[in-house]
Amino acid sequence: MNTTKSQELYKRGQRHMVGAVNSPVRAFQSVGGTPIFIDHGQGAYVTDVDGNTYVDLVQSYGPMILGHGHPKVLEAVSQAITKGFSFGASTEAEVELAEIICDAFPGMDMVRLVNSGTEAVFSAIRLARAFKGKNKIIKFDGCYHGHADSLLVAAGSGVATLSLPGSSGVPEEAVKNTLIATYNSLDSVKQHIAANEDIAAVIIEPIAGNMGVVLPQDNFLKDLKILCEQHNILLIIDEVMTGFRSTFGGAQEVLGVEADITCLGKVIGGGFPVGAYGARREIMEMVAPLGPMYQAGTLSGNPIAVASGIATLKALRGTNPYQLFNELGKNISNTLLEEARKNKIDLTVNRFGAMLNPFFNANEINNFDDAKQCNTDQFAKFFWLMMEEGVFIPPSQYEAWFLSIAIGSTELDKLKIAISNSFKKLTNP
Ligand SMILES: *Cc1c(COP(=O)(O)O)cnc(C)c1O
Repeated sequence: MNTTKSQELYKRGQRHMVGAVNSPVRAFQSVGGTPIFIDHGQGAYVTDVDGNTYVDLVQSYGPMILGHGHPKVLEAVSQAITKGFSFGASTEAEVELAEIICDAFPGMDMVRLVNSGTEAVFSAIRLARAFKGKNKIIKFDGCYHGHADSLLVAAGSGVATLSLPGSSGVPEEAVKNTLIATYNSLDSVKQHIAANEDIAAVIIEPIAGNMGVVLPQDNFLKDLKILCEQHNILLIIDEVMTGFRSTFGGAQEVLGVEADITCLGKVIGGGFPVGAYGARREIMEMVAPLGPMYQAGTLSGNPIAVASGIATLKALRGTNPYQLFNELGKNISNTLLEEARKNKIDLTVNRFGAMLNPFFNANEINNFDDAKQCNTDQFAKFFWLMMEEGVFIPPSQYEAWFLSIAIGSTELDKLKIAISNSFKKLTNP
C-alpha cells in the first residue's frame, strides 16, 4: 500500500494543525502509523490522496448512512445552495425537518436544531437542570456525550483511546455535579440516588457505541426509566449515534422506552453539521424564546445542512433499509467470529442494526470495564491488515463499525475476503 502523499500531508499538516487532525481519533494514535488523507468518497467507498480505495466502514463516524455522495442528497444540497447560505431568520426547510423528526419520535413534541451532537447534549443537560431546578446528573462509565466540560468524565471514544482520565483543563467544579454509574448496573444508579438529593437527570447512550458497541441487557433501559420517574429525575437518551440507525426513529422505539429529552446528531445532518434536542412540549417551553433557559446559535438550522438532513431522512424512510442492515450486520458478525475461531483468536462481536464491532476478547462485553480487557495490540495489527485489504475501519478498538445502504453484495464479498485474509495473517504473519 503506497501512502506517500498521505505521509507528506501529515508532515505538512502537523505544522499548523494539532496532530494534523481536527478531531483526535483521526490521528490513528492507538493503531500507530500515519493517518490517511481522504481525497473523495463515492457510495460504499473512499479513496485516499494516493489513490488507494477502501470499502468504508467509518462512515464519518456515523452520518453517512446512505454512503457517500448519495444523488438525492447531492441534488437537495445543490438546490439549497443556490438560494443563499445562511440568513439569521427561519426557513421552510427547518419547519419540515422538525416535523419529520417529531413524527419519528413519539416523545418529542418540539425540537431545537443546533450544530453538533456536543451542542445538543450540553443544551439538553442545561434544559434538564432548568426544568427540574436541580444540579446533579448521572452518566455511565464509557458513554461519550460530546466534549462539554461536565461530560468529560469517564467518557469513551477518543478519551478511551488516548487513555486520558477525563481531560486536562476541566476544572473540578465543572464535574463535581457529574456522578458516574456502571452501564447495565441499575444498582450503581440506585446507590447514587440514595446518596444524593439533587439529581436532575440521568443521561445514557441507549445502545452504547463509544466504548465499542455495548447493548443494554434485559430491561435495563425500561427499569432505568421507571427508577427515574420514581425519583423525579429526567431521563436523557443520547441518540446522536443511534438515531435513525436501527429504525426510522430512535433506539428508544426498538427498546420500548421513551426519553424525557432526546439528543440527535450524525444521521440527521447526512454529513453536514446538524444536532438536535427535543422533548415534550412542557419541557421544551423552558427554552428561549418561550422560556428562561437560554440557548442560541448563529448557524443553527443552516439551510444547506438542513436540506441534507431532510433528503437523508426521506431517502431512509423511502428505502427502509433497517431489516437489510440487520442481515448485513449478522452476516459480517458471523464471518468475523468464524474466521477468528478458525485462527484461534479470541473474539466477541456486539451488534445492533447498522452498528457492530469486534472486541479482541473471549468474554461478554457488557460495560466499559469489560471493554478495557481487550487485546488492543491485536486490534492495531488487524486494523492495518484490513487497510491493506482495502477496508477502512475505525482506527480504535473502542469505535463502532457503521453500515450504509451503499454496501451491496460486491462489497460484502470484499469484506469477507478481507476479514478472512486479515485473521490468517494475524496468526501467521
Ligand atoms: C458523536 C456523539 C456525540 C457528539 O457529537 P459531535 O457531533 O461529535 O459533537 C455525542 N453523543 C454520542 C452518543 C455520540 O456518538
